[in-house]
Amino acid sequence: MDQIVSTSANKKRVIMLIIDTLMYPPLEKAVKEGAAPAFKFFMDNGRVFPNIVSPFPTMSVTVDSSLLTGTNANIHKIPGLVWFHDKEKRLINYGSHIRELIKLGITQSMKDILYNINNQHLNKEIKTIHEELSSRGKITASINALIYRGNTEHNLKLPRLLTIFTSLNHELKTKGSQLFTYGSFSKLSPLKRYGYFWQKCGFNDRFSAQELKYLIKTDSLPSFTIVYFPDMDKIIHKNGPMEIKGIHKVDKQLQNVLDCYDSWEEALKDNYWIIMGDNGQAPIDSDRNKALIDLRQSLRSYQIMTLKDGVKDRDEVVLGVNERMAFIYTLNPEHAPLSDLAKTLQMDERVDVIAWMEKESVHVISGVQQGKFIFKPNGTLVDEYEQSWDIEGDLGILNLTVKNNKIIYDEYPDALARLYSSLTSHEGNYLVVSAKPGFEFIGEGSPTHVGGASHGGLHKQDSLVSMIVTGTNSSPRHLRIIDLKDWILTLLD
Ligand SMILES: [Zn+2]
Repeated sequence: MDQIVSTSANKKRVIMLIIDTLMYPPLEKAVKEGAAPAFKFFMDNGRVFPNIVSPFPTMSVTVDSSLLTGTNANIHKIPGLVWFHDKEKRLINYGSHIRELIKLGITQSMKDILYNINNQHLNKEIKTIHEELSSRGKITASINALIYRGNTEHNLKLPRLLTIFTSLNHELKTKGSQLFTYGSFSKLSPLKRYGYFWQKCGFNDRFSAQELKYLIKTDSLPSFTIVYFPDMDKIIHKNGPMEIKGIHKVDKQLQNVLDCYDSWEEALKDNYWIIMGDNGQAPIDSDRNKALIDLRQSLRSYQIMTLKDGVKDRDEVVLGVNERMAFIYTLNPEHAPLSDLAKTLQMDERVDVIAWMEKESVHVISGVQQGKFIFKPNGTLVDEYEQSWDIEGDLGILNLTVKNNKIIYDEYPDALARLYSSLTSHEGNYLVVSAKPGFEFIGEGSPTHVGGASHGGLHKQDSLVSMIVTGTNSSPRHLRIIDLKDWILTLLD
């Protein structure tokens, strides 16, 4: 009898829906106001985890890499949306703003986005959940996720317009999950030239939902499916964190998905549904002069690399701006040491975390308060996530408390591991800055979100997302995105 139960349990599939910027407070509000019946259905029939910790920086490409590999950026090697490649001496940008991509060179940028991120930059020594499940003989699907590496070769079909303006070929080989949708570049359902298929090259909620519905209706859902719904990000960026219009819109798509079944209850029967956000967002001040921290101004006494020219001999500093977080690189540690750059940035009270490595230790200072905090891994104190650290200095800088030899986080969830992993995520001499809620960094051509919201930072407003789970009472070892891969694998064992 036991055997039968476990066999039938094995048939259950995981359907994971990543809703960009799904946070608990607006979700709760939308459900209360009756604006989200599908979310309500899943919540009533499952468990809600309001605060799952996202990795750092809280940018989708880094988060998705952590989700798929169960590691932080020091292991998976996708440091952020924008970062400086020390060996190639160039800024990598996976798509912050078209202005910046054009300045960096559109062919190189498109190659980074369409090919390098999955096939070159994402650490080949570790396995994604697609590769892991595939090696166990299981089929997986990825629909519109930016990070999708798997064992199956696919051809991305590039639109003519893109091949005209770049020197890219019409087709680009990539390795993805067996079932694979990547906007209009690669799709599952037979071609229907609906308007939304072409909108943002197919990276929109309606197309994501259509591809998932296709798998359900043709009874071809594999063991694991991950579907990315991108649209809410932009709505929150524009209107602020408590805007529920985005939840209402994506809920309509979820209703359409549930309607594929004879009844909504039927949808729960053979599936584990995991519905969650990838990063949060913090509000941005409506006064432009206050809201935007212009790093070229803050560091004007240094020679800063321009996007169009790339690294020149006289350049001292490179900016890798990720909205509310930035990597700041020194190309000349003698004339522009990190500790001097840090002190300059500390004069701005809108910057609440400034961190860099000195030998094995991380040094942290803040524009908000005096003092210094130093830490390194493998010490005598243990934190909430079973990680051990040596710490000294002012705990207040990272809003930490220590009780009975245990480190407890508050404003900056999992701060030590997230800072340490970011500072060891790639080669180079750099520091990491994170802005106080209300503010964001800009460099040359950065997108801005004055009066709206933004993310990337270490603060809990950027870092906490909500998750709804149906079909199981088990939960991940810790409530962090990096702990989900191992847990999902146990669901499919
Ligand atoms: Zn965003």
